Amino acid sequence: MAQQPRKDVVIIGYGAAAGPISTELAKAGYSVVALERGEWRTTDDFSGRTFDTLRFAHRGELLPKQSEVALTFRSDLEDVARPTQYIMANMVGGASVHWSGQSWRYYEEDFHLRTTLEEMYGAERLAYLEEDGANIQDWPLTYEELEPYYDKMEYYIGVGGFPGNIQGEIRPVNPEEGNPFEAPRERDFPMRPLRDNATDITFREGALALGLNPFHVPTAINTEAYTNPDGLERPACSYCAFCTDYGCWNDSKASSLVALLPTALETGNMEVRPNSHVLRINHENGRAVSVDYLDLITGEQHTQPGDIFYMGAYTFQNVRTLLHSGITGGGQVGKYFMNRSGPSVSAYFDDRYLNGWAGPAVQRQGLDDYNGENNAEEKMQLSDEDFFVRGAFIGSPSQRHPLEAYNIVPPDVPRWGRAFKDYWLENFNRIISLQILQEPLPYETSYIDLDPNYVDQYGVPVARVQRQAKQNEIRMSRYMFQKATEILEAAGAARVWGNSTPRPTATMTHDTGGLRMGSDPSMSVTNKYGQMWEIPNILVGGGALLPTMSGHNPTETIWTLSYWTADAVLENKIDLEDAQAFT
Ligand SMILES: Cc1cc2nc3c(=O)[nH]c(=O)nc-3n(C[C@H](O)[C@H](O)[C@H](O)COP(=O)(O)OP(=O)(O)OC[C@H]3O[C@@H](n4cnc5c(N)ncnc54)[C@H](O)[C@@H]3O)c2cc1C
Ligand code: SF4
Repeated sequence: MAQQPRKDVVIIGYGAAAGPISTELAKAGYSVVALERGEWRTTDDFSGRTFDTLRFAHRGELLPKQSEVALTFRSDLEDVARPTQYIMANMVGGASVHWSGQSWRYYEEDFHLRTTLEEMYGAERLAYLEEDGANIQDWPLTYEELEPYYDKMEYYIGVGGFPGNIQGEIRPVNPEEGNPFEAPRERDFPMRPLRDNATDITFREGALALGLNPFHVPTAINTEAYTNPDGLERPACSYCAFCTDYGCWNDSKASSLVALLPTALETGNMEVRPNSHVLRINHENGRAVSVDYLDLITGEQHTQPGDIFYMGAYTFQNVRTLLHSGITGGGQVGKYFMNRSGPSVSAYFDDRYLNGWAGPAVQRQGLDDYNGENNAEEKMQLSDEDFFVRGAFIGSPSQRHPLEAYNIVPPDVPRWGRAFKDYWLENFNRIISLQILQEPLPYETSYIDLDPNYVDQYGVPVARVQRQAKQNEIRMSRYMFQKATEILEAAGAARVWGNSTPRPTATMTHDTGGLRMGSDPSMSVTNKYGQMWEIPNILVGGGALLPTMSGHNPTETIWTLSYWTADAVLENKIDLEDAQAFT
């Protein structure tokens, strides 16, 4: 086994989470190495070759092979878990390269959900959650503490939007466009949001007709040529519409690869080792000392020693690598896993063309009137059988390509063959399918562990995911199905269809929890800075840290927490010998 020279910081997986911390520490003079199992593709790999739905969206060219990064899933704890597809990119930059770019801050209440719910609804109304084994905890930090880091993320990585709340003043810039429910921001976004297409305008009309508050969704896609505070310039989006599932050929969509890595490399302190699959973390006397990794090109095994280790390999691989290394966090590693499931709602309009194929997927209007506790008064009126907590963002996605959208036709239309093609040729441009991002809760029975039956091609047990939709998700899904239907009908839909029953899966790209942060070491894996209680020189990144989720996508918060953790290292807010001794 080859021994590599010692580094100050060893990054395990270079995706979204790893970007900010490696750049900030490299800028400060730390020697950083990122061990990344995927290839090092560049923008040139996407230019001219990216406009291929079959290759990228269907055959998943950027995804790992099933035998390399395997995952199993069961929704019934009595069942044997079965292999399932892993859908996050396998490359330097991770899924931030082929993501969509919806970029949200979380609400203030998202940081103290347990307290909020108890105060709003009382123990009696919430008893059904306890019956289902919900384990809701407040975060160990507040929105106010994180706000400067959200701001930093938005300016360094580049986010466009209309503000809804600057320093407590609601919708100060454009009364028609901001999200009135958003948490207070210190200053405006650095850019404006993407423009609308006919799908967005239709959705907006329906929402306004119902008295709701539609707004342009904030996105980490440049809407103008933008230079960040490090002097890194990237161009404006061309609205090419090969965005989600594809690498951006134009560097307009932010990723750790194009928005952060160039700055880190310029310091001379950052090294990226692609095709390097981390197998385990070696630790002695409560301290990580090195990682063993496999060079996927030569097949040779290496050991990389270091002082600080950062888990950046996404929720499943982070949990799996820790468990395989014998690091269990006193039984907390893998617990309280969350991802979303919810209703699907589509509609046909006989009086207009919708151009839903035009523009990136996140060129959209959306609303938060049913998200979080924004509609608490209405929910309080619901019967005990219908009552639920939390909610969902509802929006109107674009980038609907004919091949990707085969499964949104009405139930009486076949999904293949002549009848499907005839229907699609006639109606493709007249259908909307909404995005409904339901917030899940953490449960005792939703967790990740090592599968007792399956190993990957390197002989390591794969991550096994168990998750169910509980009463709260089922009730929320019924309600959201109804609300989304009302919006589309108010917009003038001739026909609305869909499914109101949530169908849990192992992964849906917002896979969170499993290594949650907290104040109490017996109920969490890390402290508020993502530092492991059990092994204080291991720092955790990514959505696995989140104690609770949100009805918003997680990546802006993941990038923000990475800045927050970097700052804790640089400002000596944490002691790398003792996770309980922070300032
Ligand atoms: C199609 C799609 C659309 C999305 N759209 C949005 C959106 O609009 N908004 C939003 O907020 N989020 C979105 N997401 C989610 C977003 O991409 C993730 O939240 C984010 O990438 C997670 O960051 P991460 O660093 O934890 O993991 P990743 O970005 O997945 O990075 C993990 C890295 O670790 C590497 N790795 C894994 N195992 C090992 C190992 N053993 N050794 C070495 N390296 C390893 C992987 O190859 C990868 O590069 C989307 C995701 C997808 C797939
Ligand atoms: S739509 Fe814009 S951001 Fe997306 S891939 Fe095309 S140019 Fe890049």
